[in-house]
Amino acid sequence: MATIKELRCTVCGRSYQPDEVQYFCPACGQVGTLDVLYDYEALKTQLDRDALRTQKEWMWRYRALLPLAAESRVPPLRVGYTPLYESGRLAEALGVRQAWVKDDGQNPTASLKDRASAMIVARALEQGVEVVSTASTGNAAAALSGLGASVGLKIVIFVPATAPEAKIAQLLVYGATVLLVEASYDVAFDLCYDTCMDEGWYCRNTGINPFTTEGKKTAAYEIAEQSHWDVPDVVVVSVGDGSIIGGVHKGFWELYQLGWIQRIPRLIGVQATGSSALVQAWQNHIQPQDMQPVDAHTVADSISAGLPRDRAKALRAVRETKGAFVAVSDSEIIAAIPQLARLTGVFAEPAAAAVFAGAQRAVQSNLIQPDDRVALLVTGNGLKDVKSAQQSVAQGIRVQPNLSAVHQALQDG
Ligand SMILES: *Cc1c(COP(=O)(O)O)cnc(C)c1O
Ligand SMILES: [Zn+2]
Repeated sequence: MATIKELRCTVCGRSYQPDEVQYFCPACGQVGTLDVLYDYEALKTQLDRDALRTQKEWMWRYRALLPLAAESRVPPLRVGYTPLYESGRLAEALGVRQAWVKDDGQNPTASLKDRASAMIVARALEQGVEVVSTASTGNAAAALSGLGASVGLKIVIFVPATAPEAKIAQLLVYGATVLLVEASYDVAFDLCYDTCMDEGWYCRNTGINPFTTEGKKTAAYEIAEQSHWDVPDVVVVSVGDGSIIGGVHKGFWELYQLGWIQRIPRLIGVQATGSSALVQAWQNHIQPQDMQPVDAHTVADSISAGLPRDRAKALRAVRETKGAFVAVSDSEIIAAIPQLARLTGVFAEPAAAAVFAGAQRAVQSNLIQPDDRVALLVTGNGLKDVKSAQQSVAQGIRVQPNLSAVHQALQDG
């Protein structure tokens, strides 16, 4: 319902009208990701945060702040408005005043990517597009395939031929056309974009399509609303391409423009040691356009990114909020899966559990203080990657089917 005022380049600051450019800044190339901006002064007088209480359509409760016409159709699946659980035990374990987990693994295809894909599918319906395409090996592709299936859109996915079979299966189940490209993710990414240009398909590629941010920002809106507009001091987010942390920042920034929150939380981005391009850029004060690709490898496949596609938004999110980037090892990430699950009852995939390890690291490094109120954003469900979870826990106890064997086993265990 919000009317777009301009699309502004995050690198050079050039401003474009929505009909002038579709994906990224023509002057900067792909590093020049765009901000979708509205007339916040006008929205401030028109909107009232308390009116949200009567809205029940999950992430669409924030339609007034999303780039969709009032009458536009949205996918029927229940995306967003995921729970924010407060946990005293989590706070105690981290050594902070108050702690929450936001469980975005509860989305329909089990990751936060559903927010972005729902937004993209809604825009595609609005524009009468027939095919939407993305390059991804993981959750973004699953989300686009699932949300596309819910409205009968044709979805084409470009994946490297080496992508894990289980992930490819989820795409095929939803009926997406899956192209197994005999090359790396980066090559598949460019091939997807070129094909979209050729065929007139809508491209969802991360960092290319600025509207993915508009979906992801709703996670921040919810954290604000669910904390009764008294937002946490710190929000911890795992980071691969940097699109989620950029979206979360945009969400809080907009609420601050509207006067609905009094401050923007410090954003702490967590990367895997083996895929830490943004940690290095942040530590060494490198600008997004000067970043060089690293050779990424980590067990947390959803945050494996050599040259993060949304690096401009990610660096800005951390720099502007006086947050930080931290890196955690694969073994810390694996250990965090049961630690987080036992403290909160939330089972996270490796990339998502990384926020617990990252929060611990940030407390040790005094980036988070004992007095802080901290929210961990859990971006994906643990059932996405059961193999990694199995590495983090002992086996069950084998037992003969009689009482004395059970007693014996319980004593030994
Ligand atoms: C995509 C993803 C991330 C990282 O998001 P970016 O936007 O690539 O930084 C983290 N966790 C999960 C579960 C994801 O699917
Ligand atoms: Zn630019």
